[in-house]
Amino acid sequence: MPVPVPGLTKKIRGRLIPLSDDPSRRKWECPVEDCKRPFVRQEHLKRHINSIHTNKKCEFMCPVEGCGKLFSRMDNLKMHKRSHDNADDSDQLLLAELIRTAPLI
Ligand SMILES: [Zn+2]
Ligand SMILES: [Zn+2]
Repeated sequence: MPVPVPGLTKKIRGRLIPLSDDPSRRKWECPVEDCKRPFVRQEHLKRHINSIHTNKKCEFMCPVEGCGKLFSRMDNLKMHKRSHDNADDSDQLLLAELIRTAPLI
């Protein structure tokens, strides 16, 4: 589990993808006091912490909340973002999962 830097919350651009409305599915909560964003999967919480609560350098990060996949090249990020554009919000989690396991780089 990544360790959040105290007081650090980076602003991320892009639309926020609404997570599940069902509170029982929100098993993972961001430990950062001012954030407390709930996540359905631990993987998504880790990604969230890595993307906005750490100083980890990432050149190109997917701005979609819950994704935050890192890319070393803008081309790769652009290609990846296209798959978000084609997806309904309800399919977001499944899609993120598929993307995560796909060898994009
Ligand atoms: Zn957070
Ligand atoms: Zn993404």
